[in-house]
Amino acid sequence: MPGTLSFDALKSQVADGTVDTVLACLVDMQGRLMGKRFHAANFAETSYDETHCCNYLLATDLEMATPDGYAAASWQGGYGDYVMKPDLDTLRSVPWLDGTAMVLCDILDHHTHQPIPHAPRAVLKKQIARLEALGFTAMMATELEFFLFEQSFDALRKSGYRDLAPISGYNEDYHILQTTKEEAIMRPVRNHLYAAGIPVENTKGEAEAGQEELNIRYAGALDCADHHTIAKHAIKEIAWQQGHAASFLPKWAANRVGSSSHVHQSLWKNGTPVFFDGADALGMSDLMRHYMAGLIAYAPEYTYFLAPYVNSYKRFLKGTFAPTKTAWSVDNRTAGFRLCGAGTKGVRAECRIGGSDLNPYLAQAAMLAAGIKGIEDRMPLPPATTGDIYEDAEAAEVPRTLRAATETLRGSAFLRQAMGDGVIDHYTRAAEWEQEEFDRAVTDWEIARGFERA
Ligand code: ADP
Repeated sequence: MPGTLSFDALKSQVADGTVDTVLACLVDMQGRLMGKRFHAANFAETSYDETHCCNYLLATDLEMATPDGYAAASWQGGYGDYVMKPDLDTLRSVPWLDGTAMVLCDILDHHTHQPIPHAPRAVLKKQIARLEALGFTAMMATELEFFLFEQSFDALRKSGYRDLAPISGYNEDYHILQTTKEEAIMRPVRNHLYAAGIPVENTKGEAEAGQEELNIRYAGALDCADHHTIAKHAIKEIAWQQGHAASFLPKWAANRVGSSSHVHQSLWKNGTPVFFDGADALGMSDLMRHYMAGLIAYAPEYTYFLAPYVNSYKRFLKGTFAPTKTAWSVDNRTAGFRLCGAGTKGVRAECRIGGSDLNPYLAQAAMLAAGIKGIEDRMPLPPATTGDIYEDAEAAEVPRTLRAATETLRGSAFLRQAMGDGVIDHYTRAAEWEQEEFDRAVTDWEIARGFERA
């Protein structure tokens, strides 16, 4: 991917003292950057070739626990090492940190140097290769919605996340006045990311107090996922630098709308969009119809990859712009899939199901797998739905709980065939573990409801 730095440029920046630190990062199952901070001289001399990490990094949870049940990493297996192989094409400066550059790493087996199949970048690369074998390239864009808070991460953690106060006092959808007040965070977000080679289009206020959205120009699928991951990380770091918190939890309050990550997708061949057919009333090619048919039919099976936590499912509520049905429609924000750019070369499918907590590598991989299946099986696209799709009894529901999505994932023959049993078993275990941890928790809601009255 076009980072901002060639390796030669990095070496001269290290030599002249411009860069003193290189972050070597992998992307974990939760879509976070994990890794090491290298002294730049060491990175430029030796570690650019490879470094190492404990293999539990791809078998843990948000709390860095060591769950049982993973075939790939366990106490019995001794939690050995993976190779972190820097992808030097992703080398870029990190303008919001002094003297710092960053590289993303692929994860390889320590002994064989083969890719670890359940590593998120590898999961996506596999589907990109399958698509390339059919002669197509995917162009994707993920929208990032999130909330900014008055207080810092540390202050909020110390207060037990009580009295969360968003940075603004009212719904700031498209507001210029309120978002001007947030420019201390959002202007550096746009400019630093742009300078880091991430093609920021815009930021805007979203439909709730304190809610912002970042749009990045569409790109090849791997670049898009890399952009998303680095942007999400940057937003948290820049908010922290300014004494504020930025949260990508999809639903932090029952009475406020949630945060999504809509995914725009189109297929291209030799630089030409192949979802477009000028002869069709909506500008949709047969290829696009097959792709969308796969996306829609298999959505219940890959919902876990769009909604990986218990909280993710709290977002799916009617009347909130978060869809509950897998139907498609033409420019209608109540459907799971919205046709955008109808009748133009920019015609594309927008999946609206995913939350702001999705891992973009896994989400895109699952949707590409579904689209490929639709193309291979020449699946017919059902007619577009219209009106308020929340009220459409005919439209299929997405799984409404993590428990339900875990079972559709576990039983998905199509995903097993597309991604491999090992990968699906790995992520099914992650989903189960998340639910098990939640089931062990005693929540505020239970205490408030039953403490006196039960
Ligand atoms: P919205 O009204 O949903 O915000 P935008 O026009 O802002 O729609 O586009 C949303 C995203 O779609 C942007 O990130 C843009 O780069 C991306 N996009 C535009 N054209 C395409 C395409 N042909 N394929 C994939 N993504 C695209």
